[in-house]
Amino acid sequence: MLEELLIFTRGGLILWALSGGGGSLKASPVDALIRSYLLEDRSADGAGVSQDGKHALKWAFHNGLGLVFVAVYRRVLRLLRLDDLLAAVRAEFARVYHPKRTSYDGFSDVFRQLHLEAQARADEMNSGNAGGSKQAGSDGDSGKKENSGGDPKPKDGGAFDLSTLQNLRNRVIRRNNKKPNNKPDIKGRHKNPNEPSDKKLDFSDAAERGKVTDHVAIKEGQSKMDKDEQVGDGPQAKGWFSSVFQSIAVGNKVIDMSGLQPALKALKDRLMTKNVAEEIAEKLCESIAASLEGKKLGSFTSIASTVRAAMEKALLRILTPSRSIDILRDVHAAKERERPYVIVFVGVNGVGKSTNLAKVAYWLLQHDLSVTLAACDTFRSGAVEQLRIHARRLQIPIFEKGYERDTAVVAKQAIQEATRTKSDVVLVDTAGRMQDNEPLMRALSKLININSPDLVLFVGEALVGNDAVDQLTQFNQKLADLSSVPAARLIDGILLSKFDTVDDKVGAALSMVYVSGAPVMFVGCGQSYTDLKKLNAKSIVNTLLK
Ligand code: GDP
Repeated sequence: MLEELLIFTRGGLILWALSGGGGSLKASPVDALIRSYLLEDRSADGAGVSQDGKHALKWAFHNGLGLVFVAVYRRVLRLLRLDDLLAAVRAEFARVYHPKRTSYDGFSDVFRQLHLEAQARADEMNSGNAGGSKQAGSDGDSGKKENSGGDPKPKDGGAFDLSTLQNLRNRVIRRNNKKPNNKPDIKGRHKNPNEPSDKKLDFSDAAERGKVTDHVAIKEGQSKMDKDEQVGDGPQAKGWFSSVFQSIAVGNKVIDMSGLQPALKALKDRLMTKNVAEEIAEKLCESIAASLEGKKLGSFTSIASTVRAAMEKALLRILTPSRSIDILRDVHAAKERERPYVIVFVGVNGVGKSTNLAKVAYWLLQHDLSVTLAACDTFRSGAVEQLRIHARRLQIPIFEKGYERDTAVVAKQAIQEATRTKSDVVLVDTAGRMQDNEPLMRALSKLININSPDLVLFVGEALVGNDAVDQLTQFNQKLADLSSVPAARLIDGILLSKFDTVDDKVGAALSMVYVSGAPVMFVGCGQSYTDLKKLNAKSIVNTLLK
């Protein structure tokens, strides 16, 4: 359901609101949300996620009239034809808008009608009748067609529409990723041939065979989480990026959009070769075009450096979501309240959940925090033993109850035990579930609802690129659908695993943050306990523009 639809001027004056509100944007409950996304310097249509992760918003501009149209909705919902509705609202409002008029009460009836029509189109699409109803590409032309009175072009169903993501994934994966050899191994895992053969932290086989002999505490040095990575300014003048834009270098004149288009197209293609999903690459280019339109370049400014700066800004904005989480600070806050901080690791089989859980434990231990592991993968044989090996090596307690138990209950008992023993953090390992396996997803949803962890961390493999984006979206959707409580808990943060194996195909990080609004909190970059890093947005930007 649409929670809010606002029409306001670029100056922030609300002209019409679905909930009937008027007046200044400051008074609106979605003020922060809108301000953080829109009033800065965005000028292309787009989508975003609220700070608490619960709401999503989509916006459209009418640049000619200086109007902004924003729809706010519960993030977990699949709002079909929302772009369609926004475009129709934009077109109809443009007809009645007058700069001197500030009250548009009568627009409510028009909106109701537009909403009904959009709903009908969505229903039609859902029932399969709209197989031929083409999802038009982005027109990238906010607000210019309305005055002609023509029908607004429907675009796709929105950034959170699963079908969009499915298509997006298929397209990009096909183009960029040779599918890994998907033959499952003996544990049902899908191995990747590019995976390094060094299995330093992979104890799963030993665990299954009962050959657990390692009782020695490991000392591998400082976790990379706490080491600052030096990143330069990235590719300079002679790089690919400059060469594409150099040809349209201008001196002392206004940037001409038509001259820029081929270069933007080349940029989009280039981003896609680095695993950036097509839709996102397209949005980035649109937003760059919009921010450059009409800009005058000084005689010594090259268009390449102007575009690069705009691109960097847009990428950094995506990679640095407003919803940031400081785990160490939050652990200490929980400690003061005499309870452990709980992190639940979720993700599909074989992505590196338990390995990276152990790396997180190692990092926490280096910060003088006490950690308990909770073996809540009571489904896959060998999982408990594998975690036990990590616990032994790290010399930390593990709470385990074997297999075929109710994982929600095991997690609850583990947290109780950690509270009793004054452990600072509980790291909960869960069964790797395929997001389309309903009983397993229901169990995960129950575990999360009953135990209200501080952090639900999604582990996604950087290597499989946009497959991980698809998994993430579907996990969120299932957690929302299967939740027994009204305010469903969704994924709070991302751990991007196997980043050391992706070379320059770093786009998955961008896509995952873009579609979920959840920050990448850890990056797994190898098979030692120290191989855990923070996401370095600047280095990703450099790699993408290389
Ligand atoms: P789980 O089934 O999700 O718990 O996955 P595991 O933790 O058992 O990991 C699966 C495989 O991925 C193991 O061989 C790990 O050593 C490997 N792995 C995990 N994280 C990384 C990483 O950051 N880089 C690399 N190269 N391999 C990793």
